[in-house]
Amino acid sequence: MIKANYPLSKFQDIQTPFYYYDLDLLRSTIAEVKTQSAKSDFVVHYAMKANVNTSVLEVIKNAGLGADCVSGGEVQAAVDAGIAPSKIVFAGVGKADWEINLALDNDIFCFNVESIPELEVIDELAGKKGKTAQVALRINPNVSAHTHHYITTGLSENKFGINMSEINKVIDLSLTLTSVKLIGIHFHIGSQITDMTSFQGLCVRVNEIQETFDARGIVLDHINVGGGLGINYEHPNHFSIPDFESYFKVFREHLILKPHQKLHFEIGRAIVAQCGSLISKVLYVKVGTSKSFVILDAGFTELIRPALYQAYHRIENLSSALPDEEYDVVGPICESSDTFVKNYMMNGTHRGDIIALRSAGAYGEIMASQYNLRKLPKAYTSDELK
Ligand SMILES: *Cc1c(COP(=O)(O)O)cnc(C)c1O
Repeated sequence: MIKANYPLSKFQDIQTPFYYYDLDLLRSTIAEVKTQSAKSDFVVHYAMKANVNTSVLEVIKNAGLGADCVSGGEVQAAVDAGIAPSKIVFAGVGKADWEINLALDNDIFCFNVESIPELEVIDELAGKKGKTAQVALRINPNVSAHTHHYITTGLSENKFGINMSEINKVIDLSLTLTSVKLIGIHFHIGSQITDMTSFQGLCVRVNEIQETFDARGIVLDHINVGGGLGINYEHPNHFSIPDFESYFKVFREHLILKPHQKLHFEIGRAIVAQCGSLISKVLYVKVGTSKSFVILDAGFTELIRPALYQAYHRIENLSSALPDEEYDVVGPICESSDTFVKNYMMNGTHRGDIIALRSAGAYGEIMASQYNLRKLPKAYTSDELK
């Protein structure tokens, strides 16, 4: 079993809180992504918004993955990391002109276009540069992801994508525009999806939508089904590498590709979540009237997922082998929502113990804030602390 390992003796000398990335686990995870996706020649873009730590990006770039970006900043970060522009896709409901121009200047592979006015603006800006922008239409497939409502994106009530009823209208428009070339369709139904039937539902919908394009005689080079594969937050040691085999198999078995059509993926969380931990020190153990509180030096400023979407992270006391006791584990921020977990069984804990908040490699460090004028967390890798 490959699992995250902790160089505890090295941790003692580092100012907490900080992020720690096990790059060996990241490399093993990516190797599995490549093995499983290669079986069907699937193309994988790493969803940059999950984590843009330089060491993490370096591993991803070296493995040859492409990038999925949702802002100009991410397009720039992908280019700076050395990811080939021909492997970069750019989604987002609100692309500003400067972001579109930046992507055009870098000749990225494809814009995932989320509305009619956006398509017109990309056409206009590309025209001014004498370029042709390759575009895919992001279609809202009205498929439920069965995940937290804040991270569901593929229902018609969500702000993302073009509604299916508008497809013909957008095809008509794209045929009149001279500086965009329609090369694909794009979907992304949500995040932390563990129920494979959601992806199966997406495949069925994609097959139906392909018929609309067929009927118009339009040949699409690629289908992009986005990302969203979930990870196991309860048992990061036993499920350190997500089940990419089953995931890709769903698409292989249920999505009907036309000859020469390529299937693209945009995987974020499932690639980077398990290799990252937030390492924190216990400031105080406060015994209240009905509960005991473990007060950490990390709060939602370093890891906002529990406060933002009631997310669970496994918490381990790396310093203690004492019998379990029940605690509320909280941060130091002046907000009641700054609570990582309530009524949690954990080894008997004391001031100074080192704590790992597990599975924090995705949507962790990148969402850190300076609220309460706290410092942004630093990050260290297993390669550095060897
Ligand atoms: C966030 C996002 C992804 C990645 O989602 P994960 O759940 O991290 O895999 C992929 N595509 C788009 C368009 C996104 O916005």
